[in-house]
Amino acid sequence: MAWPVLLPHNLVAALVDQGRLNLLLGDAPVRHLYWQKIKMDFTSLSDVDPNLSAPLALYGDECTAFRQATMAFHWQALLNPHSSNSIQSRFLIAMIPSQYYVQQCLMSYIVESLQKLSCFGIRVANDTKRVDPETLDGLTYHFHIMSIRGDWKFLKQILNLSRYATAEYICPFCMASKGLKDIPNNYTDLSDDAPWRSTHFTCSLPWDVEPQICRLQDWDIRKVGMDMLHIWNLGCARDLIGGCMQYLVKSKYFGPRLRQSAALAQATVKLKFWPLAG
Ligand SMILES: [Zn+2]
Repeated sequence: MAWPVLLPHNLVAALVDQGRLNLLLGDAPVRHLYWQKIKMDFTSLSDVDPNLSAPLALYGDECTAFRQATMAFHWQALLNPHSSNSIQSRFLIAMIPSQYYVQQCLMSYIVESLQKLSCFGIRVANDTKRVDPETLDGLTYHFHIMSIRGDWKFLKQILNLSRYATAEYICPFCMASKGLKDIPNNYTDLSDDAPWRSTHFTCSLPWDVEPQICRLQDWDIRKVGMDMLHIWNLGCARDLIGGCMQYLVKSKYFGPRLRQSAALAQATVKLKFWPLAG
C-alpha cells in the first residue's frame, strides 16, 4: 500500500522559493548563540557556519484521524520565530494509519531527505532568494536534525528500542531498571551513587537492530529528546504528581467553587499556557 509523503528537502526548497527562509533560520543573534552552545557538546559540529545553518527537529505522535489511530511524522525548525503558531512552524511529512505502520521503511526515505538538507544543503541565489542549484552567485544553507522527539510509541519504533518504558531496562540513555531482574540498577534508587547513574551515555546502545536514523550525518544518541509530560506519566513521578494534584484540588487551589472535574480541566488549561508564557 502506498502513502503520500512530503519529504522535508522538497518542502524546505518550496519555503525558500516563497521567500520564507526566515521561518527556517530564525533571528541571527539567537542562531549564533544556539550554535555556540551546541558546539560545546557536539564537537562533530565544529565546522557548522552559524550564518548558513539552521537546526531542525523531527518528531512524531499518534493521533486520531478519520476515526482511526494514525502515526503522524513532522519536522520543525527549532529557531522558527513563530514557534507557538503550529501552521507556520510544524511541517507534516506523513500520516500513516497505525495498523499499516512500517516504521523503518518510511524512515529510510525521510533520512535520505534529511541527509540532503545537511550534507548538500539548499543553494539560494543572492539576487532572487530563490532555490537555484546552478547559481555561482549565491549561498548554500544547511539544515541539521538536532532533536528527535515524540511519544513513547514513536521513539520506540523510530529507534528500534530494546530499552524503553515498559521493558526491564526503561531508559535509552542508561541502564536504569525496574528492578525485576536487575535489582542493583533499580531506578527507584535515587542516591547520589546509584549504580545506574554511572551508566548514563556510557552504556551500550539501546537497540539490537540499528535504526535508519543512525545514517544521519552527525547522528548522536544525545539528540533524542524526552518530553516532560510523557516522563511524568510513568513510574513514581506519576504517583507523586497525582498526589499533588489531589491535594491542590481538595484545597480549592483552582477555584473555590469548582468541582473536581472542573478543577482538573482548569489545571490542564493552566498547564498548556505555562510553556507558552515562557
Ligand atoms: Zn537514564
